Amino acid sequence: MNVSLLDLNKQYENLKPQIKQAIDQVLDSQAFIMGNEVHELESAVASLTETKHAIACASGSDALLLALMGLEVEAGDLILTTPYTFFATGGAIARLGAIPVFLDIENDSYNLDPKHVLSFMEGRHPLNKKEGMSPSAVKGIMPVHLYGQTADMRALSNLAKRYGIFLVEDAAQAIGAKYQGQQVGSFGQAACFSFFPSKNLGAYGDAGMIVTNDDALAERFALLRLHGAKPKYHHKFVGINSRLDTIQAAVLNVKLPHLLSWSSQRKDVADTYRNLFESLGIVAPKATDLTDNTLVLPAAPYGTEENGGKHIYHQFVIRVNKRDELQQFLKDKGIGTAIYYPIPLHEQECFAHLGYSPSDCPNASSAAKQTLALPIYPELERIQIEYVVNCINQFLNT
Ligand SMILES: *Cc1c(COP(=O)(O)O)cnc(C)c1O
Repeated sequence: MNVSLLDLNKQYENLKPQIKQAIDQVLDSQAFIMGNEVHELESAVASLTETKHAIACASGSDALLLALMGLEVEAGDLILTTPYTFFATGGAIARLGAIPVFLDIENDSYNLDPKHVLSFMEGRHPLNKKEGMSPSAVKGIMPVHLYGQTADMRALSNLAKRYGIFLVEDAAQAIGAKYQGQQVGSFGQAACFSFFPSKNLGAYGDAGMIVTNDDALAERFALLRLHGAKPKYHHKFVGINSRLDTIQAAVLNVKLPHLLSWSSQRKDVADTYRNLFESLGIVAPKATDLTDNTLVLPAAPYGTEENGGKHIYHQFVIRVNKRDELQQFLKDKGIGTAIYYPIPLHEQECFAHLGYSPSDCPNASSAAKQTLALPIYPELERIQIEYVVNCINQFLNT
């Protein structure tokens, strides 16, 4: 049997006529840039995320950059963030000459740990000893909702308010996820989504979105993606070209009404994995309990359904001791997996000048060595999940 990490063909097969028709309509209209479909998508995303404004742009990475530009992040500003994320999170901060302050993650959620944010802001975090790392230089916090599970938003937004700094959510992997009943996207000044093809809501190319409840910021974001011009050829500030192609919006408009049911199918896949692994008795409760014969399942530390949490399972990530060997073993069995992320940002060459050592964020460094993403997508069949689980069980028992 072959089980690929992600198979987008089945989704396309199911939506083919509608998607072709939507693309055809754009071709007939010849309105390739910022056509009606773009504004339709913006309204739909604002409504889905329960925010006031949604501003479409060319990618999730640009959404992060535009959000920070709109919030007037400047050279030398400190932005507190997680090192355990896709590169774009730290990249957007560094692109503006600001300094990403990588604070360690929680071992169970893999998300930014609010207690390190607090200690940094109180000036008692070990990183405060470095030059320039003073709490007064901090302009904002940028948590990531990794793998589709929210960060601890109550704690993080309270800290942002207490210290008068902004909060921007990198929600690229988490559209539709909830924390205590509240949609991600509305916890801070702005939030960013990605519609990269492999995301839960994927375009047929690059696409992104910023959402905000702030009218003035919404206007700034909208202008910044058009080189800061209003009206045309009158530039209030220096922006970038980051419009969303109408064709991508048309594809996303066809897909968006299915997002809720795709998320619940993903949850079903995750529950099936969970039940099968648990019935085999190979689950360790926490990373610190891991043995060579056990694995750790994705946790829901503050994201259980009882308290209004919703994990949208962008990825289903397990944790094991002999991760690389397991990945090779599964590959030989025809099973695709992925490592998100093999090198945390505080260990990246391009940030070497910031002087981090792996021991500055030990949880992130250890997660990078032990996590493995298993196949997950709405159309994944039970028989495929059983095969994956049985192969992993075989590996852990030999
Ligand atoms: C995908 C992703 C991005 C960037 O999105 P693109 O659309 O690929 O530019 C940013 N942050 C995180 C956490 C992501 O997963």
